[in-house]
Amino acid sequence: MTQQRITVIRGDGIGPDIVNATLQILDKAGCDFAYDFADAGLMALENHGELLPQQTLDLIAKNRITLKGPLTTPVGEGFTSINVSLRKQFKLFANVRPVLSFKGTKARYEDIDIITVRENTEGMYSGLGQKVSEDGNEAEAMSKITREGAERILTFAYEMALKEGRKKVTAVHKANILKSTSGLFLKVAREVAQRYPQIESTEMIVDNTCMQLVMNPHQFDVIVTTNLFGDIISDLCAGLVGGLGMAPGANIGENCAIFEAVHGSAPDIAGKNLANPTSVILAAIQMLEHLGMADKAEKIRHAIKDVIESGDRTTRDLGGNHGTTDFTQAVLERL
Ligand code: NAD
Repeated sequence: MTQQRITVIRGDGIGPDIVNATLQILDKAGCDFAYDFADAGLMALENHGELLPQQTLDLIAKNRITLKGPLTTPVGEGFTSINVSLRKQFKLFANVRPVLSFKGTKARYEDIDIITVRENTEGMYSGLGQKVSEDGNEAEAMSKITREGAERILTFAYEMALKEGRKKVTAVHKANILKSTSGLFLKVAREVAQRYPQIESTEMIVDNTCMQLVMNPHQFDVIVTTNLFGDIISDLCAGLVGGLGMAPGANIGENCAIFEAVHGSAPDIAGKNLANPTSVILAAIQMLEHLGMADKAEKIRHAIKDVIESGDRTTRDLGGNHGTTDFTQAVLERL
């Protein structure tokens, strides 16, 4: 069998520390990948004069599987978000963000197991019609939903639910106010739901969803929604299981997939050995499952679970007082 090559973007801020930790863990678990390292973000701007160099795009296309650290997009200097560019360029239409409770975190709940499936290329993040008036007093942007895009993400969510033995899919929308865009999404959601009678389908308005997630999160199984709502809801879900350090995300397209943490480059703790690498390790677990390497995924998940549950060398956000390197060592010792 030919060796699987993975494109690795270490990223900015805490990125290099948590990605390096993850690569050590993949190697120790015996994954036998070959890595091609590529620059993006601030590092790429320094080294190549652009945020997303062509050689990085070529490597992402060539290997088809990328593991990526968070990237900093400079604010207010006319740069479009690198993440949005990547998602559009590689048509990574589905953003799959699972959250799972681990005992031993400071989370308010136990037994949370929710997957948010976020449409990743349309809606408010399509980047269309961005305008600010000359006097700077008026700003506008366009949100676009297509039947094709809605059907694709909804079908993806139901197929994923079937494959993973999930029982319920909740379509989240704001069709009462955003009648055209969210209205179309809801209409298509109802049509797609008809094709999956074996799965319970529900629908919920986004503001109520946020309240319900805080009050009674156990009612949710799979959530499928449009781009902006999915972005916000998945951070809320991360908060339910102990914060952003616990939240991975997979960006899936027809030809490529990029696995990353939900969080950003955390400049407030960068370079201090304080970051929790679990988010990227869990993203690597998603990558292994995507590659059909479920046994390795389970082995690493088990090691992480044991470290967190026993409180052995955990990071500050998990209630411990250790750093990234000690936490990583605790996981490595269990593999
Ligand atoms: P952030 O997600 O970087 O940080 C939010 C808070 O969570 C901070 O207090 C941070 O310390 C904490 N945190 C995040 N990850 C953590 C971890 N692994 N362990 C412990 N604590 C962690 O959000 P921000 O500060 O709003 O954004 C910083 C930069 O990241 C911005 O430039 C933004 O554009 C970028 N960003 C990138 C991505 C991505 O690459 N996918 C996603 C979101 C934000």
